[in-house]
Amino acid sequence: MTNYHTHSRWCDGKGELREYVEYAISKGFSVLGFSGHSPVPFPSTFAIKDEEYTAYCDEVRALKAEYAGRIDIRLGLEIDYIPGLQEDFSTFVEKGGLEYTIGSVHLIPNPNDIESLRQLSATANGDERNQIPYHIWFIDGPRQETYDNGLHHIFGDDIRAGVRAYFHQQNAMIERNRPTIVGHCDKIVMHNHNRYFQYDEPWFRDLLYETITLIKEYGCICEINTRGIYKGRHTDFYPAKETIKYMNTLGIPVIVGTDAHQPSDLDREEGANLFLKEIGYRNIIIFLQ
Ligand SMILES: [Zn+2]
Ligand SMILES: [Zn+2]
Repeated sequence: MTNYHTHSRWCDGKGELREYVEYAISKGFSVLGFSGHSPVPFPSTFAIKDEEYTAYCDEVRALKAEYAGRIDIRLGLEIDYIPGLQEDFSTFVEKGGLEYTIGSVHLIPNPNDIESLRQLSATANGDERNQIPYHIWFIDGPRQETYDNGLHHIFGDDIRAGVRAYFHQQNAMIERNRPTIVGHCDKIVMHNHNRYFQYDEPWFRDLLYETITLIKEYGCICEINTRGIYKGRHTDFYPAKETIKYMNTLGIPVIVGTDAHQPSDLDREEGANLFLKEIGYRNIIIFLQ
């Protein structure tokens, strides 16, 4: 078994890195990749602190050396692509010496607001920085109210505009940064629960398939993220099974990620590997040098 999508107490997860390593070994994992949430340029409770980023990378590297021969530990980062605020992954890659990146979108500004956001961040003193989150639709986290309120304040309840911004942001991330793995590429559905739109509506599918096509074109790996299922927040993988079937017809490489936030999440793959086999996937990606 492997897992490349792993958080810890360095960001919004529970437990030391070593506890994840020990758990993974006890379950017979061959590879464990760490992918803490990248620092973000405003106050947050979920991201690695900018001043702790190097220490996070150093600790992963130290464990990699210590456990060599027992388990293959990989240094990665789940990087938020936020237009106007955080557009280039290269700074993190070079500063940390990352072995892989997961590119993810959780934070969506209104495309019409990006220039003012850029200015806010360029001139930001502490107080101005605190304002930045009010310009961003946060689509993740445990609370449906956060999703609904963000959609209301940032997009005036226009779900299509919000969803379009999400997918366009993801596309820009792929084109600009070509992340190793694209994380949970339809997570925008998590708090929707069929309220604002249905998954099979043509406008939604067109946007999703545009992203899928880019993943193929840029040679990224598409993550099959299982967290929604074992957290009881969603009834399918991200992306959904029907989308994975479509990806198989295009020959897009996939990787199963549990998005672990505590050691016991590491093996919550929720039948994803069997599902992939059933629909015809015959290979999984592993990283060599
Ligand atoms: Zn994520
Ligand atoms: Zn994650």
